[in-house]
Amino acid sequence: MHPLAQLDHQFVWHPFTQMREWLKREPVVIVAGKGAVLHDIRGREYLDANSSIWTNLHGHNHPRINAAIQQQLKKIAHSSALGLANEPASLLAAKLVRMANQKVGRAVPSAPFSHTHVWRGEDTAPYLGKVFFSDDGSTALEVALKLAYEFTRRARSAGVSPASRAKVQPRFLSLAGAYHGDTVGAVSLGHIDLFHKSYSGLLFQTDRVMSPYCYRCPFNRAKPERADAREYRKCNWECAGLVEKKFASQGRMGNPYAAFVFEPLIQGAAGMIPQPRGWLRRVTEIARHHGALLIADEVMTGFGRASSVAAVCDRRTLQQKFSDGHRPPLQQQLFASHHEGVQPDFLCLAKGLTGGYLPMAATLTTQKVFDAFLGEYEDFKTFFHGHSYTANQLGGAAALASLEILQGKPSIRARQNLEKNLHDELQTFWSLPNVGDIRQVGLIAGIELVRDWRTRKPFDLQERAGIRVCEAMARRGVLTRPIGNVIVLMPPYCTTTKQARKMVRAVFDSIREIFGRAGV
Ligand code: PMP
Repeated sequence: MHPLAQLDHQFVWHPFTQMREWLKREPVVIVAGKGAVLHDIRGREYLDANSSIWTNLHGHNHPRINAAIQQQLKKIAHSSALGLANEPASLLAAKLVRMANQKVGRAVPSAPFSHTHVWRGEDTAPYLGKVFFSDDGSTALEVALKLAYEFTRRARSAGVSPASRAKVQPRFLSLAGAYHGDTVGAVSLGHIDLFHKSYSGLLFQTDRVMSPYCYRCPFNRAKPERADAREYRKCNWECAGLVEKKFASQGRMGNPYAAFVFEPLIQGAAGMIPQPRGWLRRVTEIARHHGALLIADEVMTGFGRASSVAAVCDRRTLQQKFSDGHRPPLQQQLFASHHEGVQPDFLCLAKGLTGGYLPMAATLTTQKVFDAFLGEYEDFKTFFHGHSYTANQLGGAAALASLEILQGKPSIRARQNLEKNLHDELQTFWSLPNVGDIRQVGLIAGIELVRDWRTRKPFDLQERAGIRVCEAMARRGVLTRPIGNVIVLMPPYCTTTKQARKMVRAVFDSIREIFGRAGV
Protein backbone atom coordinates (compact mmCIF):
# COMPACT_ATOMS: atom_id res chain seq x y z
CA MET A 1 0.00 0.00 0.00
CA HIS A 2 1.24 3.49 -0.81
CA PRO A 3 2.53 5.33 2.30
CA LEU A 4 -0.07 8.10 1.84
CA ALA A 5 -2.83 5.52 1.66
CA GLN A 6 -1.43 3.96 4.83
CA LEU A 7 -1.56 7.30 6.61
CA ASP A 8 -5.14 7.75 5.44
CA HIS A 9 -6.06 4.33 6.83
CA GLN A 10 -4.35 5.08 10.09
CA PHE A 11 -5.71 8.58 10.73
CA VAL A 12 -8.54 9.76 8.49
CA TRP A 13 -12.25 9.20 9.10
CA HIS A 14 -14.17 9.70 5.84
CA PRO A 15 -17.63 11.25 5.49
CA PHE A 16 -20.64 9.11 4.64
CA THR A 17 -18.34 6.07 4.56
CA GLN A 18 -18.51 2.72 6.30
CA MET A 19 -14.95 2.72 7.53
CA ARG A 20 -14.80 -1.04 7.99
CA GLU A 21 -15.25 -1.44 4.23
CA TRP A 22 -12.94 1.47 3.51
CA LEU A 23 -10.13 -0.14 5.48
CA LYS A 24 -10.32 -3.34 3.42
CA ARG A 25 -8.70 -1.87 0.31
CA GLU A 26 -6.20 0.69 -0.80
CA PRO A 27 -7.95 4.02 -1.40
CA VAL A 28 -7.53 6.09 -4.54
CA VAL A 29 -5.23 8.93 -3.51
CA ILE A 30 -5.79 11.97 -5.74
CA VAL A 31 -2.74 14.09 -6.41
CA ALA A 32 -3.75 16.25 -9.37
CA GLY A 33 -6.56 17.19 -11.69
CA LYS A 34 -7.02 18.91 -15.01
CA GLY A 35 -10.37 19.65 -16.60
CA ALA A 36 -12.66 16.67 -16.01
CA VAL A 37 -9.75 14.34 -15.23
CA LEU A 38 -8.41 13.34 -11.82
CA HIS A 39 -4.95 11.76 -11.43
CA ASP A 40 -4.05 9.45 -8.58
CA ILE A 41 -0.76 8.72 -6.92
CA ARG A 42 -0.33 5.48 -8.87
CA GLY A 43 -0.46 7.37 -12.18
CA ARG A 44 -4.02 6.32 -13.02
CA GLU A 45 -6.54 8.70 -14.60
CA TYR A 46 -10.22 8.98 -13.78
CA LEU A 47 -13.07 11.04 -15.14
CA ASP A 48 -14.70 13.06 -12.37
CA ALA A 49 -18.27 12.11 -13.24
CA ASN A 50 -19.86 13.73 -10.19
CA SER A 51 -17.81 16.94 -10.25
CA SER A 52 -16.22 16.10 -6.89
CA ILE A 53 -19.55 15.68 -5.12
CA TRP A 54 -21.36 18.30 -7.24
CA THR A 55 -19.01 21.18 -6.55
CA ASN A 56 -16.84 21.63 -9.63
CA LEU A 57 -18.16 23.71 -12.52
CA HIS A 58 -15.45 24.46 -15.07
CA GLY A 59 -12.98 21.65 -14.44
CA HIS A 60 -9.97 21.23 -12.20
CA ASN A 61 -6.93 23.46 -12.38
CA HIS A 62 -8.69 26.11 -14.40
CA PRO A 63 -6.16 28.74 -15.43
CA ARG A 64 -8.46 31.70 -14.76
CA ILE A 65 -9.54 30.59 -11.32
CA ASN A 66 -5.97 29.63 -10.45
CA ALA A 67 -4.77 33.07 -11.54
CA ALA A 68 -7.50 34.84 -9.55
CA ILE A 69 -6.53 32.96 -6.38
CA GLN A 70 -2.83 33.60 -6.97
CA GLN A 71 -3.49 37.32 -7.48
CA GLN A 72 -5.50 37.46 -4.28
CA LEU A 73 -2.82 35.52 -2.40
CA LYS A 74 -0.34 38.27 -3.18
CA LYS A 75 -2.60 40.63 -1.25
CA ILE A 76 -4.11 38.65 1.62
CA ALA A 77 -5.64 35.19 2.17
CA HIS A 78 -8.08 36.00 4.93
CA SER A 79 -9.24 38.70 7.27
CA SER A 80 -12.33 38.50 9.42
CA ALA A 81 -15.75 39.74 8.29
CA LEU A 82 -16.60 40.35 11.94
CA GLY A 83 -15.90 44.06 12.00
CA LEU A 84 -14.14 44.35 8.63
CA ALA A 85 -15.13 44.53 4.98
CA ASN A 86 -13.01 43.21 2.13
CA GLU A 87 -12.62 43.66 -1.61
CA PRO A 88 -13.64 40.29 -3.09
CA ALA A 89 -16.59 39.90 -0.72
CA SER A 90 -18.02 43.32 -1.61
CA LEU A 91 -17.61 42.68 -5.33
CA LEU A 92 -19.00 39.18 -5.07
CA ALA A 93 -22.06 40.24 -3.07
CA ALA A 94 -22.87 42.88 -5.68
CA LYS A 95 -22.45 40.33 -8.48
CA LEU A 96 -24.61 37.71 -6.79
CA VAL A 97 -27.35 40.26 -6.25
CA ARG A 98 -27.25 41.19 -9.94
CA MET A 99 -27.39 37.55 -11.00
CA ALA A 100 -30.13 36.59 -8.56
CA ASN A 101 -32.42 39.37 -9.68
CA GLN A 102 -32.17 38.95 -13.43
CA LYS A 103 -35.58 38.85 -14.97
CA VAL A 104 -37.29 35.81 -13.52
CA GLY A 105 -38.91 33.81 -16.32
CA ARG A 106 -42.51 32.69 -16.16
CA ALA A 107 -43.39 29.12 -16.94
CA VAL A 108 -47.01 28.22 -17.39
CA PRO A 109 -47.83 24.83 -15.92
CA SER A 110 -48.19 22.42 -18.81
CA ALA A 111 -50.84 20.25 -17.20
CA PRO A 112 -54.16 21.19 -15.65
CA PHE A 113 -54.40 21.13 -11.89
CA SER A 114 -57.15 19.51 -9.96
CA HIS A 115 -57.72 22.50 -7.74
CA THR A 116 -60.88 24.44 -7.70
CA HIS A 117 -59.16 27.59 -6.54
CA VAL A 118 -57.42 29.80 -8.99
CA TRP A 119 -54.28 31.13 -7.43
CA ARG A 120 -52.91 34.39 -8.63
CA GLY A 121 -49.21 34.54 -9.31
CA GLU A 122 -47.12 37.17 -7.67
CA ASP A 123 -47.02 40.50 -9.37
CA THR A 124 -43.73 41.50 -7.86
CA ALA A 125 -40.93 39.07 -7.21
CA PRO A 126 -38.94 39.64 -4.01
CA TYR A 127 -35.71 41.52 -4.64
CA LEU A 128 -32.79 39.62 -3.13
CA GLY A 129 -30.57 42.52 -2.21
CA LYS A 130 -28.64 41.28 0.83
CA VAL A 131 -25.97 38.58 1.01
CA PHE A 132 -24.89 36.71 4.14
CA PHE A 133 -21.73 34.67 3.56
CA SER A 134 -20.93 31.36 5.24
CA ASP A 135 -18.92 28.24 4.54
CA ASP A 136 -20.88 25.44 2.88
CA GLY A 137 -24.32 24.22 1.94
CA SER A 138 -25.30 23.29 5.48
CA THR A 139 -24.38 26.67 6.89
CA ALA A 140 -26.13 28.48 4.02
CA LEU A 141 -29.30 26.64 5.08
CA GLU A 142 -28.71 27.28 8.79
CA VAL A 143 -28.55 31.00 8.04
CA ALA A 144 -31.79 30.94 6.04
CA LEU A 145 -33.48 28.86 8.73
CA LYS A 146 -32.47 31.14 11.60
CA LEU A 147 -33.29 34.31 9.68
CA ALA A 148 -36.71 33.00 8.62
CA TYR A 149 -37.42 31.79 12.16
CA GLU A 150 -36.49 35.04 13.83
CA PHE A 151 -38.08 37.23 11.16
CA THR A 152 -41.37 35.36 11.60
CA ARG A 153 -41.12 35.26 15.38
CA ARG A 154 -40.61 39.00 15.54
CA ALA A 155 -43.39 39.72 13.04
CA ARG A 156 -45.87 37.49 14.89
CA SER A 157 -44.86 38.79 18.32
CA ALA A 158 -45.53 42.42 17.50
CA GLY A 159 -48.37 43.82 19.56
CA VAL A 160 -49.22 40.62 21.45
CA SER A 161 -49.02 40.05 25.18
CA PRO A 162 -45.76 38.69 26.64
CA ALA A 163 -47.54 35.43 27.50
CA SER A 164 -48.71 34.93 23.92
CA ARG A 165 -45.36 36.06 22.57
CA ALA A 166 -43.64 33.20 24.38
CA LYS A 167 -45.91 30.79 22.54
CA VAL A 168 -44.96 31.98 19.05
CA GLN A 169 -43.15 29.01 17.56
CA PRO A 170 -42.56 29.34 13.82
CA ARG A 171 -42.73 26.00 12.04
CA PHE A 172 -41.19 24.80 8.78
CA LEU A 173 -42.36 22.56 5.97
CA SER A 174 -39.98 20.67 3.70
CA LEU A 175 -40.24 17.86 1.18
CA ALA A 176 -40.26 14.11 1.71
CA GLY A 177 -36.74 12.85 1.10
CA ALA A 178 -35.34 16.32 1.78
CA TYR A 179 -31.63 16.71 2.44
CA HIS A 180 -30.30 20.15 3.30
CA GLY A 181 -27.02 19.38 5.04
CA ASP A 182 -25.58 17.79 8.15
CA THR A 183 -25.61 20.49 10.79
CA VAL A 184 -28.37 20.12 13.35
CA GLY A 185 -30.72 22.77 11.90
CA ALA A 186 -30.27 21.49 8.36
CA VAL A 187 -30.79 17.92 9.56
CA SER A 188 -34.03 19.00 11.25
CA LEU A 189 -35.27 20.11 7.82
CA GLY A 190 -34.23 16.77 6.35
CA HIS A 191 -36.39 13.72 5.88
CA ILE A 192 -34.07 10.85 5.01
CA ASP A 193 -34.45 8.32 7.81
CA LEU A 194 -31.22 6.51 6.97
CA PHE A 195 -29.21 9.67 7.64
CA HIS A 196 -31.36 11.53 10.11
CA LYS A 197 -33.36 9.18 12.33
CA SER A 198 -30.63 8.40 14.83
CA TYR A 199 -30.38 12.09 15.67
CA SER A 200 -34.09 12.71 16.19
CA GLY A 201 -33.49 13.38 19.88
CA LEU A 202 -31.25 16.29 18.95
CA LEU A 203 -33.56 17.85 16.40
CA PHE A 204 -36.52 20.22 16.36
CA GLN A 205 -39.79 19.22 14.71
CA THR A 206 -40.47 20.09 11.10
CA ASP A 207 -43.14 18.73 8.80
CA ARG A 208 -42.80 16.93 5.51
CA VAL A 209 -45.03 16.89 2.51
CA MET A 210 -45.06 14.58 -0.49
CA SER A 211 -42.62 15.44 -3.22
CA PRO A 212 -43.38 14.59 -6.83
CA TYR A 213 -41.44 11.35 -7.33
CA CYS A 214 -43.37 10.43 -10.48
CA TYR A 215 -41.57 7.12 -11.00
CA ARG A 216 -42.71 5.78 -7.63
CA CYS A 217 -45.75 7.94 -7.03
CA PRO A 218 -48.73 6.01 -5.60
CA PHE A 219 -51.04 8.38 -7.52
CA ASN A 220 -49.39 7.66 -10.87
CA ARG A 221 -51.67 5.14 -12.61
CA ALA A 222 -49.41 4.68 -15.65
CA LYS A 223 -47.79 1.33 -16.33
CA PRO A 224 -43.99 1.51 -16.58
CA GLU A 225 -42.72 2.63 -19.97
CA ARG A 226 -39.27 3.05 -21.44
CA ALA A 227 -39.22 6.80 -20.83
CA ASP A 228 -38.73 9.34 -18.05
CA ALA A 229 -41.70 8.78 -15.73
CA ARG A 230 -42.59 12.47 -15.81
CA GLU A 231 -43.52 12.13 -19.46
CA TYR A 232 -46.03 9.31 -19.24
CA ARG A 233 -47.44 9.80 -15.75
CA LYS A 234 -51.19 9.60 -15.33
CA CYS A 235 -52.35 11.59 -12.35
CA ASN A 236 -54.34 14.58 -11.23
CA TRP A 237 -51.47 16.38 -9.55
CA GLU A 238 -52.48 14.88 -6.21
CA CYS A 239 -49.02 15.79 -4.91
CA ALA A 240 -49.76 19.50 -5.34
CA GLY A 241 -53.14 18.93 -3.72
CA LEU A 242 -51.41 17.45 -0.67
CA VAL A 243 -49.22 20.52 -0.38
CA GLU A 244 -52.32 22.66 -0.39
CA LYS A 245 -53.94 20.48 2.28
CA LYS A 246 -50.86 20.61 4.46
CA PHE A 247 -50.72 24.41 4.38
CA ALA A 248 -54.44 24.71 5.00
CA SER A 249 -54.47 22.35 8.00
CA GLN A 250 -51.46 24.03 9.59
CA GLY A 251 -53.19 27.37 9.10
CA ARG A 252 -56.31 26.05 10.83
CA MET A 253 -54.17 25.15 13.84
CA GLY A 254 -53.42 28.83 14.20
CA ASN A 255 -49.72 28.56 13.44
CA PRO A 256 -49.28 28.86 9.66
CA TYR A 257 -45.97 27.64 8.31
CA ALA A 258 -43.24 30.24 8.58
CA ALA A 259 -41.42 28.92 5.54
CA PHE A 260 -41.46 26.27 2.85
CA VAL A 261 -38.02 24.80 2.15
CA PHE A 262 -37.32 23.06 -1.15
CA GLU A 263 -34.78 22.15 -3.76
CA PRO A 264 -36.10 23.55 -7.04
CA LEU A 265 -36.55 21.32 -10.14
CA ILE A 266 -34.72 18.32 -8.71
CA GLN A 267 -34.01 16.91 -5.26
CA GLY A 268 -30.45 15.65 -5.13
CA ALA A 269 -29.63 13.42 -2.18
CA ALA A 270 -33.25 12.23 -2.14
CA GLY A 271 -32.27 10.20 -5.22
CA MET A 272 -32.22 12.72 -8.07
CA ILE A 273 -35.97 13.22 -7.96
CA PRO A 274 -37.07 15.63 -10.69
CA GLN A 275 -40.22 17.70 -10.52
CA PRO A 276 -42.69 17.68 -13.40
CA ARG A 277 -43.02 20.94 -15.20
CA GLY A 278 -45.26 23.40 -13.40
CA TRP A 279 -45.07 21.71 -9.98
CA LEU A 280 -42.68 24.19 -8.40
CA ARG A 281 -44.59 27.19 -9.63
CA ARG A 282 -47.80 25.73 -8.34
CA VAL A 283 -46.67 24.73 -4.86
CA THR A 284 -44.78 27.94 -4.25
CA GLU A 285 -47.93 29.88 -5.14
CA ILE A 286 -49.79 27.80 -2.56
CA ALA A 287 -47.08 28.50 0.02
CA ARG A 288 -47.20 32.22 -0.67
CA HIS A 289 -50.98 32.23 -0.52
CA HIS A 290 -50.69 30.85 3.02
CA GLY A 291 -48.15 33.50 3.97
CA ALA A 292 -45.04 31.28 4.06
CA LEU A 293 -41.60 32.47 3.13
CA LEU A 294 -39.81 30.52 0.40
CA ILE A 295 -36.37 29.07 1.10
CA ALA A 296 -34.78 27.73 -2.08
CA ASP A 297 -31.88 25.38 -1.52
CA GLU A 298 -29.89 25.85 -4.74
CA VAL A 299 -26.75 24.35 -3.26
CA MET A 300 -26.81 21.66 -5.97
CA THR A 301 -28.99 23.24 -8.65
CA GLY A 302 -27.46 26.72 -8.74
CA PHE A 303 -25.03 28.19 -11.26
CA GLY A 304 -26.45 26.61 -14.39
CA ARG A 305 -26.57 22.99 -13.17
CA ALA A 306 -30.29 22.65 -13.66
CA SER A 307 -30.37 23.60 -17.33
CA SER A 308 -28.32 25.17 -20.04
CA VAL A 309 -31.36 26.43 -21.86
CA ALA A 310 -33.84 29.10 -20.96
CA ALA A 311 -36.79 26.95 -19.96
CA VAL A 312 -37.10 23.91 -17.81
CA CYS A 313 -36.43 20.77 -19.82
CA ASP A 314 -38.15 17.48 -19.95
CA ARG A 315 -37.09 15.18 -22.75
CA ARG A 316 -39.62 16.46 -25.27
CA THR A 317 -38.75 20.11 -24.80
CA LEU A 318 -35.08 19.23 -24.87
CA GLN A 319 -35.52 17.46 -28.18
CA GLN A 320 -37.40 20.45 -29.58
CA LYS A 321 -34.78 22.85 -28.33
CA PHE A 322 -31.98 21.00 -30.02
CA SER A 323 -33.86 19.74 -33.07
CA ASP A 324 -32.63 20.09 -36.65
CA GLY A 325 -29.26 21.36 -35.63
CA HIS A 326 -31.05 24.34 -34.07
CA ARG A 327 -29.02 25.83 -31.29
CA PRO A 328 -30.87 27.39 -28.43
CA PRO A 329 -30.19 31.06 -27.79
CA LEU A 330 -27.46 32.04 -25.40
CA GLN A 331 -29.97 32.95 -22.75
CA GLN A 332 -29.22 31.65 -19.35
CA GLN A 333 -31.10 30.99 -16.21
CA LEU A 334 -28.45 30.37 -13.62
CA PHE A 335 -30.83 29.42 -10.85
CA ALA A 336 -33.30 26.56 -11.03
CA SER A 337 -36.13 28.46 -9.31
CA HIS A 338 -36.12 31.00 -12.11
CA HIS A 339 -36.93 28.32 -14.67
CA GLU A 340 -40.41 28.28 -13.21
CA GLY A 341 -40.65 31.98 -12.58
CA VAL A 342 -40.16 31.53 -8.84
CA GLN A 343 -38.21 34.06 -6.84
CA PRO A 344 -37.66 32.86 -3.25
CA ASP A 345 -37.16 35.00 -0.15
CA PHE A 346 -33.98 33.10 0.65
CA LEU A 347 -31.62 31.76 -1.99
CA CYS A 348 -29.03 29.36 -0.55
CA LEU A 349 -25.85 28.87 -2.57
CA ALA A 350 -22.67 26.89 -1.95
CA LYS A 351 -20.89 24.00 -3.77
CA GLY A 352 -20.40 25.61 -7.22
CA LEU A 353 -20.08 29.16 -5.90
CA THR A 354 -16.28 29.06 -6.06
CA GLY A 355 -16.29 26.79 -9.11
CA GLY A 356 -15.59 23.90 -6.75
CA TYR A 357 -12.32 25.34 -5.45
CA LEU A 358 -12.91 26.50 -1.90
CA PRO A 359 -15.59 26.17 0.75
CA MET A 360 -17.78 29.22 0.62
CA ALA A 361 -21.52 29.81 0.72
CA ALA A 362 -24.03 32.61 0.50
CA THR A 363 -27.60 33.13 1.64
CA LEU A 364 -29.35 35.89 -0.27
CA THR A 365 -32.42 37.56 1.16
CA THR A 366 -34.60 40.65 1.02
CA GLN A 367 -34.42 44.11 2.49
CA LYS A 368 -37.54 43.27 4.50
CA VAL A 369 -35.80 40.43 6.32
CA PHE A 370 -32.70 42.58 6.77
CA ASP A 371 -34.76 45.42 8.26
CA ALA A 372 -36.24 43.13 10.89
CA PHE A 373 -32.78 42.88 12.44
CA LEU A 374 -32.12 46.62 12.50
CA GLY A 375 -32.23 48.55 15.74
CA GLU A 376 -30.14 50.42 18.25
CA TYR A 377 -27.27 48.43 19.72
CA GLU A 378 -29.06 48.07 23.02
CA ASP A 379 -32.17 46.66 21.31
CA PHE A 380 -30.09 43.53 20.68
CA LYS A 381 -31.83 42.83 17.40
CA THR A 382 -28.50 41.91 15.80
CA PHE A 383 -28.26 38.65 13.88
CA PHE A 384 -25.92 36.89 16.28
CA HIS A 385 -24.48 34.40 13.83
CA GLY A 386 -21.26 34.05 11.84
CA HIS A 387 -18.23 31.91 11.19
CA SER A 388 -14.52 32.57 11.42
CA TYR A 389 -13.97 32.23 7.66
CA THR A 390 -17.10 34.11 6.60
CA ALA A 391 -16.45 36.13 3.39
CA ASN A 392 -12.98 34.67 2.99
CA GLN A 393 -10.96 36.57 0.36
CA LEU A 394 -9.53 33.55 -1.48
CA GLY A 395 -13.00 32.06 -1.82
CA GLY A 396 -14.35 35.41 -2.97
CA ALA A 397 -11.66 35.75 -5.62
CA ALA A 398 -12.29 32.21 -6.88
CA ALA A 399 -16.04 32.83 -6.99
CA LEU A 400 -15.67 36.07 -8.95
CA ALA A 401 -13.51 34.31 -11.54
CA SER A 402 -15.86 31.33 -11.71
CA LEU A 403 -18.93 33.51 -12.25
CA GLU A 404 -17.21 35.39 -15.02
CA ILE A 405 -16.39 32.13 -16.79
CA LEU A 406 -19.93 30.90 -16.22
CA GLN A 407 -21.46 33.93 -17.92
CA GLY A 408 -19.16 33.78 -20.94
CA LYS A 409 -20.36 32.38 -24.26
CA PRO A 410 -17.91 29.43 -24.35
CA SER A 411 -19.25 28.13 -21.04
CA ILE A 412 -22.87 28.53 -22.11
CA ARG A 413 -22.20 26.67 -25.37
CA ALA A 414 -20.27 23.96 -23.53
CA ARG A 415 -23.19 23.47 -21.15
CA GLN A 416 -25.67 23.22 -23.97
CA ASN A 417 -23.53 20.65 -25.78
CA LEU A 418 -22.97 18.62 -22.64
CA GLU A 419 -26.65 18.59 -21.77
CA LYS A 420 -27.49 17.34 -25.24
CA ASN A 421 -24.67 14.79 -25.29
CA LEU A 422 -25.74 13.34 -21.97
CA HIS A 423 -29.31 13.16 -23.14
CA ASP A 424 -28.46 11.44 -26.43
CA GLU A 425 -26.06 8.95 -24.87
CA LEU A 426 -28.47 8.02 -22.08
CA GLN A 427 -31.19 6.91 -24.50
CA THR A 428 -29.33 3.63 -25.10
CA PHE A 429 -30.01 2.65 -21.47
CA TRP A 430 -33.66 1.89 -22.10
CA SER A 431 -32.52 -1.45 -23.53
CA LEU A 432 -31.27 -2.51 -20.09
CA PRO A 433 -33.85 -4.42 -18.04
CA ASN A 434 -32.35 -3.22 -14.76
CA VAL A 435 -32.79 0.44 -15.64
CA GLY A 436 -36.18 1.62 -14.41
CA ASP A 437 -36.00 5.36 -14.87
CA ILE A 438 -33.58 7.83 -16.42
CA ARG A 439 -34.05 11.35 -15.17
CA GLN A 440 -32.14 14.26 -16.55
CA VAL A 441 -32.52 17.83 -15.43
CA GLY A 442 -29.97 19.99 -17.18
CA LEU A 443 -26.51 18.73 -16.39
CA ILE A 444 -27.70 16.32 -13.73
CA ALA A 445 -28.67 12.75 -14.55
CA GLY A 446 -29.95 9.97 -12.30
CA ILE A 447 -30.33 6.38 -13.47
CA GLU A 448 -32.52 4.30 -11.17
CA LEU A 449 -31.59 0.62 -11.03
CA VAL A 450 -34.41 -1.85 -10.43
CA ARG A 451 -34.81 -5.59 -10.28
CA ASP A 452 -37.08 -5.49 -13.32
CA TRP A 453 -38.27 -2.40 -15.19
CA ARG A 454 -41.70 -3.97 -15.81
CA THR A 455 -42.49 -4.14 -12.09
CA ARG A 456 -40.33 -1.21 -10.86
CA LYS A 457 -39.27 -3.59 -8.04
CA PRO A 458 -36.32 -1.98 -6.24
CA PHE A 459 -33.15 -3.68 -5.04
CA ASP A 460 -32.77 -3.90 -1.28
CA LEU A 461 -30.16 -1.47 -0.03
CA GLN A 462 -28.23 -4.40 1.44
CA GLU A 463 -27.62 -5.67 -2.09
CA ARG A 464 -25.48 -2.60 -2.72
CA ALA A 465 -26.57 -2.46 -6.37
CA GLY A 466 -25.55 1.19 -6.83
CA ILE A 467 -22.25 0.74 -5.02
CA ARG A 468 -21.36 -2.33 -7.10
CA VAL A 469 -22.05 -0.48 -10.35
CA CYS A 470 -19.96 2.50 -9.21
CA GLU A 471 -17.09 0.18 -8.24
CA ALA A 472 -17.24 -1.35 -11.71
CA MET A 473 -17.25 2.17 -13.19
CA ALA A 474 -14.14 3.06 -11.19
CA ARG A 475 -12.38 0.05 -12.73
CA ARG A 476 -13.23 1.65 -16.07
CA GLY A 477 -11.72 4.96 -15.02
CA VAL A 478 -14.91 6.85 -14.15
CA LEU A 479 -15.66 8.05 -10.61
CA THR A 480 -19.04 8.83 -9.11
CA ARG A 481 -21.05 7.94 -6.00
CA PRO A 482 -24.49 6.36 -6.04
CA ILE A 483 -27.48 7.42 -4.00
CA GLY A 484 -28.91 4.05 -3.01
CA ASN A 485 -29.94 2.44 -6.29
CA VAL A 486 -29.50 5.62 -8.31
CA ILE A 487 -26.34 6.22 -10.34
CA VAL A 488 -25.51 9.90 -10.58
CA LEU A 489 -23.82 11.62 -13.48
CA MET A 490 -23.06 15.29 -12.94
CA PRO A 491 -19.93 16.11 -14.93
CA PRO A 492 -17.97 19.36 -14.92
CA TYR A 493 -19.12 21.76 -17.63
CA CYS A 494 -15.82 21.40 -19.50
CA THR A 495 -16.40 17.67 -20.12
CA THR A 496 -15.82 16.98 -23.82
CA THR A 497 -18.13 14.96 -26.04
CA LYS A 498 -15.66 12.10 -25.94
CA GLN A 499 -15.39 12.22 -22.17
CA ALA A 500 -19.18 12.38 -21.75
CA ARG A 501 -19.48 9.31 -23.99
CA LYS A 502 -16.88 7.50 -21.92
CA MET A 503 -18.73 8.33 -18.70
CA VAL A 504 -22.06 7.11 -20.00
CA ARG A 505 -20.54 3.99 -21.58
CA ALA A 506 -18.88 3.18 -18.26
CA VAL A 507 -22.28 3.22 -16.54
CA PHE A 508 -23.82 1.12 -19.32
CA ASP A 509 -21.05 -1.48 -19.38
CA SER A 510 -20.91 -1.64 -15.58
CA ILE A 511 -24.64 -2.27 -15.30
CA ARG A 512 -24.26 -5.10 -17.81
CA GLU A 513 -21.24 -6.46 -15.96
CA ILE A 514 -23.02 -6.52 -12.61
CA PHE A 515 -26.46 -7.71 -13.70
CA GLY A 516 -25.77 -9.44 -17.01
CA ARG A 517 -27.35 -8.61 -20.34
CA ALA A 518 -30.67 -10.18 -19.51
CA GLY A 519 -30.85 -8.49 -16.14
CA VAL A 520 -31.62 -10.02 -12.76
N1 PMP B 1 -28.24 21.22 0.24
C1 PMP B 1 -28.15 20.39 -0.81
C2 PMP B 1 -29.23 20.40 -1.84
C3 PMP B 1 -27.07 19.54 -0.95
O1 PMP B 1 -27.01 18.72 -1.99
C4 PMP B 1 -26.06 19.56 0.03
C5 PMP B 1 -24.84 18.65 -0.04
N2 PMP B 1 -24.88 17.58 -0.85
C6 PMP B 1 -26.19 20.44 1.09
C7 PMP B 1 -27.29 21.26 1.16
C8 PMP B 1 -25.14 20.51 2.15
O2 PMP B 1 -24.00 21.07 1.62
P1 PMP B 1 -22.57 20.88 2.32
O3 PMP B 1 -22.21 19.45 2.17
O4 PMP B 1 -21.68 21.78 1.53
O5 PMP B 1 -22.73 21.31 3.73
